[in-house]
Parts: sequence; structure tokens; C-alpha cells
Amino acid sequence: MNLYKKANIFIATIKASYRFSKGGGFFGIAVDKTEGLGLNIYHNDDFVVMSTGITDLPMALVVNTTIGNSVIVNTLMLEADKRLQDTILLHEEGHINNGDLGYINSLGLYKRATFRGSSISNDFEVAADKWAVENGGSKRDLLVFLGRIKSLYGDTKELRIRRKALLSL
Ligand SMILES: [Zn+2]
Repeated sequence: MNLYKKANIFIATIKASYRFSKGGGFFGIAVDKTEGLGLNIYHNDDFVVMSTGITDLPMALVVNTTIGNSVIVNTLMLEADKRLQDTILLHEEGHINNGDLGYINSLGLYKRATFRGSSISNDFEVAADKWAVENGGSKRDLLVFLGRIKSLYGDTKELRIRRKALLSL
């Protein structure tokens, strides 16, 4: 992906994330609530790619909105095997449980744009991984999954920190 396209996706992401958290109800396509976790799940490929840059892997993210916490998933997530789905959803549930969304929601547009990859963000990711594993998620699946992100999209400090923390659990 070239830099211009990346920059545009980045800008669109921040705007969409901000709009969604302020307004809620941004998505038309709801899928069934997942059993057990009781999360509001929405399916929207565009939002997932805008928010994460991930196009070729199952992916989910959680957004705190005026209509409550909502998890947005892509199509590959709906098609993933159940154990990986549960593990990823438990990670998102970890963010809710840990109260991360209130913090992110309090950020303005600029700080939100630079939040991912910050040390606070990395701490949130590590804690959400830990919560997922401690609540029945698969540590192995999570490690394999982070490895797939690394091989498809390149290594990052966040990925290194998360893998190291998971291995020490
Ligand atoms: Zn996360």
C-alpha cells in the first residue's frame, strides 16, 4: 500500500472513529450477538480496515459509543474458527473490562490519531491479551495470530511487547 493511500486511510479512520464514538449508530449491518460474551457485534469491513489497516486477517475492535460498547468485526472474523473468534472477542472484552474505552473516548481528535503505538496504548493491549487468556482465550491462538499480523504487515514495537508479555504468562 503506498504512503498516500495509507495517509488517507489513516485520516478517514480517525474521523470515523471520532464520529462513531460521539454519535453512535453509525453502522447499519448488525450481526447476531455472540453467545456468552453478551457484546454488541457489528459487521463492517470498511470500518475495520480504516481503524486497523488490516485487510487479510480476522479482526475486531471495540468502540465506546453513545449507544454502548460495540465490537466491530470484519468478514474474515465471521468466518474464523470459533476458538480464534472467542479469543479475539475476549481481548476486546478485556478492553471494556479494563476501562480503556473511557480513556480513549476522552481524547480529542489529534491525540486519538497518535494514540496507537503509544506506551499507554501498548499497556492496554498487553492487559487485554492477559485478560483474554485468563478468561478462557487461547494463548497459543493469540500468539499465532500476532505472528500472522507480523508476517503480513511487518513487525512493530506493539507486537514485540505483546508477544513477549504473552510468552511470560
Ligand atoms: Zn486491543
